[in-house]
Amino acid sequence: STQIRLAARPTGWPTHDDFETVEVVHPDLAPGQVRVRNAFVSVDPYMRGRMSDARSYVAPYGIGDTIAGGAIGRVVESTVDEMPVGAVVLHQHGWTDTVQDEAATFRVVPEIPGLPLSLRLHILGMTGLTAYVGLTAIAGMKEGDTVFVSGAAGAVGTAVGQIAKLLGAGRVIGSAGSAEKVALLTDKYGYDAAFDYKSGDVRGQLAAAAPEGVDVFFDNVGGDHLEAALAEFNDGGRAALCGAISVYNSTESVPGPGNMSNIITRGLTLQGFTLGSWLHLAPEFQEKMTAWFAEGRIAYDETVYEGIDRAVHAFLDMMRGVNTGKMLVRVGEV
Ligand code: NDP
Repeated sequence: STQIRLAARPTGWPTHDDFETVEVVHPDLAPGQVRVRNAFVSVDPYMRGRMSDARSYVAPYGIGDTIAGGAIGRVVESTVDEMPVGAVVLHQHGWTDTVQDEAATFRVVPEIPGLPLSLRLHILGMTGLTAYVGLTAIAGMKEGDTVFVSGAAGAVGTAVGQIAKLLGAGRVIGSAGSAEKVALLTDKYGYDAAFDYKSGDVRGQLAAAAPEGVDVFFDNVGGDHLEAALAEFNDGGRAALCGAISVYNSTESVPGPGNMSNIITRGLTLQGFTLGSWLHLAPEFQEKMTAWFAEGRIAYDETVYEGIDRAVHAFLDMMRGVNTGKMLVRVGEV
């Protein structure tokens, strides 16, 4: 099998030299093991954190480790009755075309007739759950709230806008990095207003889009977006701090917003979260999302790169904003 491994810890923006491609011949299956051919592997912003050795909420990758992360594939060889050849499985073995391991490291998921397997890696999986948890459990969104979403045209962001509307938000405002993405937000994803953060200052554009202020901020970006939200919050505003992609490749410490005192004077609540602590909300989310999906009320986009050899390319392009919706690598037909 072909595996993509971490060769060196990146400083600032990763380069192709920080990774290596390794060919591995799998031994015969041991009892209790299965072999899986991947259909899709995920590339995600949190992987940048794991490439560094700073303390974080998931352990760093070791040098020489295959880049671990979400993937979905099909069992092609098995020693385990409950995981027969042909079963579709989700797992965390990451950037490889074929993987062989203990059956307990894979989870069988039902195929959904007519829908691609890839959806389990985003809107019907952790990405969708991230959006749901952030809006409900973290930000306590209420009907009629004005919601501002940064990184709105990405995998999490496209889910946030739609779920906010479905849960009764008032005005939903998104920010993204191109005119095309901004048009998509209002035309396809139900955003009431959207702006291109690269075309003008974030605070001014947010103020124009939210004349009655912001009640809930779902932040994927940090930096100038967080500062703008602090400036435009109504009293009692809540932020779900989900990500801060604007600083993931910074080599220097990044100063915080200059208007932190608004947290005090307006009685704001800013709460960060990582999904691992909120997996108990998965059944509730699955039930709601499955129903919305079946009713045709959920849209999604994927940017798909072909071949495991392009995983690094896909990861770097996702960090630069080439993707609309979820960035994925299609490994092969399974
Ligand atoms: P996306 O699909 O949103 O891809 C990343 C996007 O970030 C790019 O498309 C780009 O879009 C945008 N971006 C890159 N640099 C900047 C910048 N400097 N300023 C503003 N936007 C930028 O990725 P995900 O949906 O997978 O993740 C979104 C966020 O959610 C990330 O911060 C991630 O870390 C976080 N996350 C957190 C989880 C948690 O448990 N807390 C779980 C999952 C994700 P554009 O063209 O608009 O710039």
